Amino acid sequence: MSEVVDHLAELTGYRDRDVMDVTLVGSLRDLLEPLSVAIYRCVGETPNERWLTRARMSATDPVATADPLWADLEALPLLADHAARLECFRSRTVIVVPGMPCVTLFPLANDREVVGVLEVQSVQALDMAMRRMVSSVLRIYHNFQGLLDYSERDTLTGLLNRKTFDESFLKATMEMPAGNDGRRHWGSEARYWLGLIDIDHFKSVNDRFGHLIGDEVLLLLARLMRSSFRFHDQLYRFGGEEFVVLMRCDKDVDAALAFERLRRNTEHYGFPQVGHITVSVGYSEVKPSDSPAAAFERADKAVYHAKAHGRNQVFCYADLVAAGHFKDEDEKVGAMELF
Ligand code: GH3
Ligand code: MG
Ligand code: MG
Repeated sequence: MSEVVDHLAELTGYRDRDVMDVTLVGSLRDLLEPLSVAIYRCVGETPNERWLTRARMSATDPVATADPLWADLEALPLLADHAARLECFRSRTVIVVPGMPCVTLFPLANDREVVGVLEVQSVQALDMAMRRMVSSVLRIYHNFQGLLDYSERDTLTGLLNRKTFDESFLKATMEMPAGNDGRRHWGSEARYWLGLIDIDHFKSVNDRFGHLIGDEVLLLLARLMRSSFRFHDQLYRFGGEEFVVLMRCDKDVDAALAFERLRRNTEHYGFPQVGHITVSVGYSEVKPSDSPAAAFERADKAVYHAKAHGRNQVFCYADLVAAGHFKDEDEKVGAMELF
C-alpha cells in the first residue's frame, strides 16, 4: 500500500506531461512486475488517426522509450493496426486479450474524451486486485491531468493558454544546437516557427450575430487549426481572437504551406449562421537567441502588414524584411552597438 502511495506522490510531483507519462509507466512496471507497460496516444485527425507511443517499458528496460513528439504521422501505426487497443479506445472499457503474453488494456481519458490506452503485457492475467489498483492509479492520473488542463488550457477552445507559452518556447530554443562561438546555430533537425493568427473583422461578427455565435466561431477556428497543423504543433489561444502556433518544421516552404493551409481552410469553411470569415497570419522563424517577446513581435509585425494590405493573407517576417518593408530588429541592434 505504502509503495503505491509513494508512486502516486512521485506521479503527481511533475507538471510536465511527458515526464508524467514516463513516471506512470515506470510506477506500474514496479508495482505489477509485468512483461511490459506502455501508454499509446491517439494522434492525427479522422480518418488518419495513429498510435503514438508516449512511454513504454519492458521488465528489463532501465529507462522508458517513446516516439519523438515530432514523429512523422505517416510512419506511426494506424488505429486499425491494433484491434484490441482500438476496441478499448472506442468502448472506453478495460479489454483483456488472453494468451501469451496476456494483454490488458485500460482506456486513458481526460474530461472531454478518450485520448489513448494503457497496455499491460503479462505472463498471467492481472487479478482483480491488480486491475482495481491500476484503475485507481489511472483515476488519480486523470484527475491530475484535469487540473493541469484547467491551469494550462483555454476553457472555450481547449487550446493551450498564454501562460504555458514562454516555457514551451524556451524548451524549443534549447533544442537548437550551440556552435563553438557560444551562439546557437541552426540544426537541420530542429527549426521552429512562431505564427500569429488574427481573425479579420471579428468585431463585426459579434456586432451582427452576438457574442455566443462569436464564441462558436472561435471554437470552430480552433478545430480548423487542429486539422490544418500537424499533431505535434503547439496551438495557443492568446486571448480574444488571437491565436498562436509554435511549429517545428525543417523547411521554410513547409512552414509557409502550413500557414497558407490554415488561411485557405478558414476562407472555405462555412461557419453556421455567420457564413465565411477570413484570417490574417504573420509568422517568423524562431532564432536560437530569441526571447518569446521578440519572436512574437516579429510575427505581430507581419500580421499588421497583412491587415494593412487587404487581410486574408499570410506573411513571413523575413520575406517582408528582404523586400524592404521594414528593417530587421537585429540590424538595428547591431547598428546601435557600433556607435
Ligand atoms: P481586424 O481585422 O483589424 O483584426 O478587426 P477585428 O474586428 O477583428 O479586431 P478588433 O481588435 O477591433 O476586435 C476584436 C474583437 O474581438 C473585439 C471583441 O468584441 C472580440 N472578442 C475578443 N474576445 C472575445 C471572446 O472571447 N468572444 C467573443 N465572442 N468575442 C471576443
Ligand atoms: Mg486582434
Ligand atoms: Mg481581428
